[in-house]
Formats: sequence, C-alpha cells, structure tokens
Amino acid sequence: VTETAQTGGSEALATLHRVFGYEAFRGEQEAVIEHVVAGGDAVVLMPTGGGKSLCYQIPSLVRPGTGVVVSPLIALMQDQVDALRALGVRAGFINSTLDFDERRVVEAEFLAGELDLLYLAPERLRLDATLELLSRGKISVFAIDEAHCVSQWGHDFRPDYLSLSLLGERWPDVPRVALTATATRATHQEITQRLNMPTARHFVASFDRPNIQYRIVPKADPKKQLLSFLKDEHAGDAGIVYCLSRKSVEATAEFLARNGIEAVPYHAGLDGGTRAAHQSRFLREDGLVVVATIAFGMGIDKPDVRFVAHLDLPKSVEGYYQETGRAGRDGLPSTAWMAYGLNDVIQQRKLINSGEGDEAFRRRAASHLDAMLALCETAQCRRGQLLAYFGQDAEPVGCGNCDTCVTPPETWDGTVAAQKVLSTVVRLQRERGQKFGAVQIVDILLGRRTAKVIQFDHDQLSVFGIGEDLGEGEWRGVVRQLLAQGLLAVEGEYGTLVLTEASGSVLRREREVPLRKEPKKPATSRSGSGS
Ligand code: ADP
Ligand code: ZN
Repeated sequence: VTETAQTGGSEALATLHRVFGYEAFRGEQEAVIEHVVAGGDAVVLMPTGGGKSLCYQIPSLVRPGTGVVVSPLIALMQDQVDALRALGVRAGFINSTLDFDERRVVEAEFLAGELDLLYLAPERLRLDATLELLSRGKISVFAIDEAHCVSQWGHDFRPDYLSLSLLGERWPDVPRVALTATATRATHQEITQRLNMPTARHFVASFDRPNIQYRIVPKADPKKQLLSFLKDEHAGDAGIVYCLSRKSVEATAEFLARNGIEAVPYHAGLDGGTRAAHQSRFLREDGLVVVATIAFGMGIDKPDVRFVAHLDLPKSVEGYYQETGRAGRDGLPSTAWMAYGLNDVIQQRKLINSGEGDEAFRRRAASHLDAMLALCETAQCRRGQLLAYFGQDAEPVGCGNCDTCVTPPETWDGTVAAQKVLSTVVRLQRERGQKFGAVQIVDILLGRRTAKVIQFDHDQLSVFGIGEDLGEGEWRGVVRQLLAQGLLAVEGEYGTLVLTEASGSVLRREREVPLRKEPKKPATSRSGSGS
C-alpha cells in the first residue's frame, strides 16, 4: 500500500502542476488525494473555497477509468465541464438539460473510456438505465459532492441522495469520496451512516477563516448604515450585499447607485440575460457591489470579494457561514457585516409559522433560527461561537478579529425589564383576552397615548407607562433578546407576542435575565421603528 500511495503521491503532484498549473497542495488536499488514489473511501469536510474539487478531480485523472461526480448543482455542471475542458481534461455531464442526442454522445464517450470525469445529477442514479450504463464502463472513483444533502435534518435535504448508499454495494472496489462544506458533528455522522461508508477516513479541515472579520450591528436605518460602512471601510471594493426579498434587493441597489456606489441587483425575478450580465460584470470588474438574494453566489469563484453584508437575517448558521465565506478567498482581510434588529426576529418567526412543511420541518427551521439568533446576541467571541457550532474548538481567549472581541459588549441585569414586558403580555391576554405585536407592547410600556392605545383603552392598564425608565430603542432590544432567548414567542402570521413555558420562571422571579446593552446611538441617526 505504501508504495502505491507513494507513486500515487508523486503522480498526483505531477498532475497538479501539469493540468491545473498550481504549485502545491493546500491543507488536507494531499492527504485526501493520496488516500483515495490508493483506493480508500473518504469523507471530506472543507469550508467553501477550501479546494474540494481537486480532492476528486486528481484521483479521477490518476486512477484508470472515469471519475463519476454526483452533484445537485445542475446549473453549474456546464461551467464546471467547460472549465475542465479548457484545461485539457476530458469531462462531460448528463442531466435533464441535455437532449437525447447530446446524452448519447456523452454515454458513448464514457463507454469508450474517453472521459476522465462524468458529472451526474443524483436523480439519474435512481434510474436503472443509468446504473446499467455505469456498469458497462470503467469507474475510477465516485465523488459525492454536497454530501450534506443526504441529511434529513439539514437545510438542503434531497431524497435522491438516500439512494447513493447503493453505490458501495454495487461497486465495492471503487473508492468513494463524500464532500461537503456544511456539516455539524451530527450531520457528519449522518453522512457516514446514510452513504454507508463505515470504513471511510475522515478529513476535517478547519472551518476558521481568520482573515474574515465578523460584525453584527444593531439595525436602525439599515440602508444608511450600509452606506456608511461601504464608504468608510470599503470604498471601491467588490462585495456582496444580501437581502431577503427581491423588492429590497432592487431598492437597496438603487439607493447605493444613487449615492455614488457602483451597484447592481441580482435575483431570480430578473431575466436570465440581465442576471448573467451582472454576474459576469461582478467577476470581471474590480469594485462592483452586487445586491442579491441568496440565489447569488453558489459556485461563484471570485477571490477578491472584500466584504459580504447582510441586511436581513440568514435562516441558519450554515447559511450565514456559507454566504460570509464568499468573502476573502484570497486570504486578505475582509469583512462579514450584518445589520440585525427586532423585526428580523419577528419576520423570520412569522415565516416559519406561516410556511409550508409539517410540524417536524417547522421545529427544525426554528432550531436553525435559534442558533442564528444566539450568534447574533452573544456577548462572547463570534468566531468562537461559529466554530463551536461546527464542532470545532476555538481560542478560549477570543479571536481578536470580531466585533465582540474588539469591543466587548456590556451586559446588564434585565430581569426587571423582562418582567415588565412579560407582565404586559400577560395583562393583555388575561384581562382583555387580547394579543398584540411588539410595537403596541412598547407603546404601552412607554405610556404613549397613540391612536391605537386609545382605541383599545390600553392607557387604563396597570402596566401603562411602567417602562418610562428606558427608551424605545432599548425596549425593542429587550423584546428582541427575550425572543432570541425563548422567553417570549411570536405567534401566527401577524407576529403577536405570547409567553413561552420558560416565561413563567422570569415572572415568578426564579431566574435572572442578563441582557446585552443596546448602544445608545446605533451607527447612524436613530429612527426608532426602522429596526
Ligand atoms: P470548494 O469546492 O471547496 O468551494 P474549489 O475546489 O472550488 O473549492 O476551490 C476554490 C478555489 O481554490 C478554486 O479557484 C481553485 O482553483 C483554487 N484552488 C484549489 N486548490 C488549490 C491549490 N492547491 N493551489 C491553488 N489554488 C487552488
Ligand atoms: Zn472574536
């Protein structure tokens, strides 16, 4: 084995130089490639941009036969194959975009042993015809890309991936390599189990991206905050701004353009030509800002993205990590910046409440959101929390390159404030049989006689005006943190506030509620209801 591995090693390095034109392997690449070339199975966890592709491309080139790559990203296959062909690699793909004749050509090439790499969509492998085709050719290695799609608990579950477990039974002598950038310890185990790879060696690259500075700021006037962030720190830099809706993508891109920043929108509602044009400008030009929904970025390989900004809260830590990971692939200092506020929490909870899917699906979505909120509200090192989420240990002293490390947030004893909010919710419900959203609760606490307060006689409640010691921004911060901590919940699609099981312990004074201090003046001018 040692000898094979050694030969494999030098051949692999020669291939890296000759075909790809790179000097040296990165991180775990060499170990993975050596192991797979020698015929071993591998599970590879590497962050986005870590260089997963070479981990199967080089074994496919070094071992006799065709490397079969299973990938769910049909839209990228053509590009991947074109890029490989440009390097002189004999690559092809089969998916639903090919017509009958085109497919026959690729099949014939495969059978004639004229392909180094064949990309397939996972649903293909459920077809007997595909399995039969594969049995008639020679396969060097199976690569299962985006392997986390096999996890039923993950956010990208694809039922077709479950059938991939049969590859090992049908081709016991062909090594398999499963790759993903998205894996907590639990997902990791699930991949191994569901793909039936008990003897696979595991290669886990660090998820740390030390050159990315993580910052999450309280949302006040998000567009203006973004503008000053860009002008102060990233003038002339290329970057991506993520928004949740197409409408806010359009509005934000226009706003930036009006304020002297080269920015273009990107979302699924734009026609294909515009999208392609904006994407290629982003890749080609030096300092373009793309304002986009999360549809943008998958498979985009631009090394000098200097910042990724979020104007809306991602649904999960996995999503946040993947999106922010598009910054700084060249290793130079970059910023992951996000504005986050009470409305983000309420909006995401409402989406889960009114969304599709069964109870289990909703519970899963809620727990993903909880982890994301915990990251937003933490008073500890953000990088440490991110790495811990991916099952990795971090510096106990903090990274020194995130906002909470640079300016440790102050905390305060928010127990009494929490009791005031929760009592208001209780009073409304018990005494009036009513439920209201955050705006009304805060107006009651502040003793404001707004039209809606008068309309419902809420100035007659005993809790009316009991919160005059704090300002509006601070109260919104308290409500936001109670929601994030699960001491308060959002109900239905209107976002009314209700108690949780844990609320009782606060009302009974059985527990304390430490809260992060809200900055007195959020980054730009305060416009209370903006958050
Ligand atoms: P992933 O699939 O893990 O997101 P890729 O395989 O697309 O990452 O690689 C990311 C980028 O790094 C690509 O531009 C790739 O060509 C480059 N790359 C990968 N390995 C090396 C290497 N050993 N030396 C130089 N560049 C590399
Ligand atoms: Zn830190």
